[in-house]
Amino acid sequence: MKHVNHWIGGARTGEGARTAELFDPATGEVSGRVSLASAGEVDAAVEAAARAFPAWRDASLVKRTQVLFRFRELMDAHRDDLAALITAEHGKVHSDALGEVARGLEVVEFACGIPHLLKGGYSENVSTRVDSYSIRQPLGVVAGITPFNFPAMVPMWMFPVAIACGNTFVLKPSERDPSASLLIAELWQRAGLPDGVFNVVQGDKVAVDRLLEHPAVRAVSFVGSTPIARYVYETGTAHGKRVQALGGAKNHMLVLPDADLDLVADSAVSAGFGSAGERCMAISVVLAVDPVGDDLVEKIVSRVRDLTVGPGDDPESQMGPLVTAAHRDKVESYLDLGVEEGAKLVVDGRETPVRGGRGDGFWLGPTVLDHVPPNSRVHREEIFGPVLSIVRVRSYEEGLELINTGEYGNGTAIFTNDGGAARRFQNEVEVGMVGINVPIPVPMAFYSFGGWKASLFGDTHVHGTEGVHFYTRGKVVTSRWLDPSHGGVNLGFPTNG
Ligand code: NAD
Repeated sequence: MKHVNHWIGGARTGEGARTAELFDPATGEVSGRVSLASAGEVDAAVEAAARAFPAWRDASLVKRTQVLFRFRELMDAHRDDLAALITAEHGKVHSDALGEVARGLEVVEFACGIPHLLKGGYSENVSTRVDSYSIRQPLGVVAGITPFNFPAMVPMWMFPVAIACGNTFVLKPSERDPSASLLIAELWQRAGLPDGVFNVVQGDKVAVDRLLEHPAVRAVSFVGSTPIARYVYETGTAHGKRVQALGGAKNHMLVLPDADLDLVADSAVSAGFGSAGERCMAISVVLAVDPVGDDLVEKIVSRVRDLTVGPGDDPESQMGPLVTAAHRDKVESYLDLGVEEGAKLVVDGRETPVRGGRGDGFWLGPTVLDHVPPNSRVHREEIFGPVLSIVRVRSYEEGLELINTGEYGNGTAIFTNDGGAARRFQNEVEVGMVGINVPIPVPMAFYSFGGWKASLFGDTHVHGTEGVHFYTRGKVVTSRWLDPSHGGVNLGFPTNG
């Protein structure tokens, strides 16, 4: 049985006094164990990163870029291996796992352009024979703490940019699907990254708390649920660190009466049930503006009934199991709750057939709840599973109000053929990532990803130019090279002349 351990200073290490079980979500069987780092093991990783920092910071931009390009090629060649590791521990179907690797790789490709991204400004003669220029410098050791739902892509939102900027990195992946992180570490090493620049500590709260307290960790990027994001932000900043902490989501799709309902139904089903709804950008609520509700629900239901649910490594499967039994049970509890709250259960995922049989896998099929009452728990709470709620609204304004009064502000979408309405929506909606006839508007790597309100603590989104800013500090240099005409002592305030 496999044992997943840490990667510190360029080698696998740590049998671990504390471990946790790993599962195959499709069968429910235990597939291995993962070490849970002690505070001492976290210290060892941070120390390895701190030792590697001075040389990596001083490595030329050309050298750093060459390593990134080689890493990009190796990741590309190992897409299938990474996807297979993800499917085995997370449960998502192989094509979906390949998709997350592809989106992560785009951030590596963005980071390959780091020489251009780190260019500063230069002003000649800001004062007589005085020049001024700005530079951005790496922070030192930075950490990433990531969730179970994208074991490759979310870490890749962080470390390619951090490392390209000259930092050294400690990754603490989710303890539910930790294996992808070790393959990534090996590929970095094969790409020529010096040992200690990229480290992985497996673990739980013990490891997270030590990273948040360790004085040598300068910045923390976190992605996960809102309560933990808030905790990481508050604890990390209290220890003097720069923190960006991305939290949970409840994403609404607003459907105006003039929208193309076939496009809407395809989009709602794809965005609601892809990866079994375990995506922070999944659509979990459809706001159907009167009078489209009945037609739209019919179109959604017919598509949902055609979905094939089965093991992630079966090419016929479109949707896999949920990540753990506990998570499946929690998601499933919302079905009865929805009915108690007055919703109509139009597709019950508990009855969905599973290819190859259900076994003891963590299964729940796609579920549709119609007439979900606005502001009920099913409407407001993050379920993070294959449950699509339809809320009927009378107008654009009523729909917008429901989005803007929600706790979260990660993603949203409007479906309409009216450009004026779409433009008004992009202006008025209080959400960080907005789709117009696009259900999952995940920004490309050269833009930055992040939500508003309880979906992000801190003020910097990930990757893109905001990522470069997060992982660097600005410095402005004012320089004058002596010439015979300098004016001697002057106690006046320096003004330009
Ligand atoms: P989680 O918050 O349970 O775990 C995230 C990380 O925090 C993991 O590494 C975990 O080990 C650690 N952790 C868990 N409990 C902790 C504690 N008490 N103290 C310190 N650290 C702790 O999240 P998850 O279940 O792995 O992931 C799903 C959540 O992530 C959902 O809420 C989803 O919306 C969110 N998510 C958000 C985004 C985004 O971009 N905003 C992206 C992906 C996932």
